Amino acid sequence: MSYAFRLFCAIYGHQPVLDAEQAQTTDVWIRYAPGSAQGQQPRPTLKLSSLYQSRSLYEAAPPPKRFEREGESTVLFYSPLPGQEPDWLGEIFEWVSSADEYSVRARDSVGRVAFAETYLGRHKLDARIPYAAVAMRFLQRALCRLAPGAVAEPRSPVESAGHFVIPTHDVDYFPGSHLNSVYRVAKNAAISCWLYKSAALGMKQAGMALRRAAGGPDPLDQIPALAQGESRRNVSASYYFLLKRYHRRDANYDLSQPGLTDAMAALERQGFEVGVHGSYTSLDEPSELAAQFDSMRARGFRPLGGRQHWLRFTLDRLIPAHERARALYDSSMGWPDRLGFRSGACFAFPPYNFEEERPATFIEIPLVMMDQSLQVGPGEESDWYYQVAELLSVSRRYGWGGISLLWHPAAFGGGWLSHAVGDVFWRLMDSRNERQETWLSAIEFVRSVRQRYIEVGLLSEEYGSAEPEEPVQQPSKGEFVAA
Ligand SMILES: [Zn+2]
Repeated sequence: MSYAFRLFCAIYGHQPVLDAEQAQTTDVWIRYAPGSAQGQQPRPTLKLSSLYQSRSLYEAAPPPKRFEREGESTVLFYSPLPGQEPDWLGEIFEWVSSADEYSVRARDSVGRVAFAETYLGRHKLDARIPYAAVAMRFLQRALCRLAPGAVAEPRSPVESAGHFVIPTHDVDYFPGSHLNSVYRVAKNAAISCWLYKSAALGMKQAGMALRRAAGGPDPLDQIPALAQGESRRNVSASYYFLLKRYHRRDANYDLSQPGLTDAMAALERQGFEVGVHGSYTSLDEPSELAAQFDSMRARGFRPLGGRQHWLRFTLDRLIPAHERARALYDSSMGWPDRLGFRSGACFAFPPYNFEEERPATFIEIPLVMMDQSLQVGPGEESDWYYQVAELLSVSRRYGWGGISLLWHPAAFGGGWLSHAVGDVFWRLMDSRNERQETWLSAIEFVRSVRQRYIEVGLLSEEYGSAEPEEPVQQPSKGEFVAA
């Protein structure tokens, strides 16, 4: 439970004291055992019910039970006796550790855990509710009743930043041969017709393919325009590149592609982050992801995190692979086909390493939405912006964020997905001040908040210490150098 307690303290800005001897001056105590310790000054004490039961990772979590207090409701893994306080730390741990997900044996055709098989899917829970953050809020309110005057809301590590949002771009396509781009756009036209049931989009893309065949521009080559749009708005972002091509579902390029490292270097020069998009099979071998990080280091880059291609991962492999790669963060915890909070978290956290019963050595930046989930979702185009802005507002309501959005560069310009998908991204970015959001790259986020996680004892003093300390910084307004 000390993991969940430290994490709660990191998000709310409390100073955790775990040793009762040293806790004489704390404002409030949280206790599992009844009664107060002998010989100690009685302090305001919140008594939690001791309900969490550790279980085999092959066993599913107990089904959700409804809980309501003062007009706010949620679900609990463990119901307390009437009048007793729920086991909030146990609830937080169940969500954030995603313990239930380890018990799911079924895989989809890609080798992933499908939403329908997860705790949220099986129990028909709303993925757009950050249940771990809801549990933290209930806990904080209970503490505030004992310590009047305490701030009820989570305290951001950076006073000027109310809510951190991290725009990220997985580069699944890099301009190569002329023929390859004609083929890709023509294929997208067919997919738009048959899969997305949009004949209009398919026809448009067929036209683009013809123009490309006749020597026109490559509609999937969107990195320069995207980076330029972000620079113009003084927003930094993270770009993740695939480095190896072992599987037909990997990209149309790898690290040896002419022009690739120049394009990566150009992004870095402009203040963007360049990271690793772990290839389709990169978790099938224990050291492969680390080798992919190393291959980028060997070219003079300093990758510090990234995301798995196709979100193809299981937690038992994802966590040790990122530790071996000496990554500072990962941002794979999300779904390819829906918006929401996969681990109940609208905040960044070190995942729990069950094998060694400790916090992992990197932080997870939850992925809460991606471009293609808009197009496969049930909503109309006109609803998309509302849906995603609402999700960000929910996250904002519960804390200071640390969540990522994924828009592939090729999602802009209409060559893959509808033009409207790219428009939603720009509209979100342009309305960021209305929701008091700070948009920045993942590594700038890590630099801004790392101390908070170190202070509560979740990450070691060395975490990110090799990185230069830089304040929240925006990219220079330079011109993007197309490579
Ligand atoms: Zn990808």
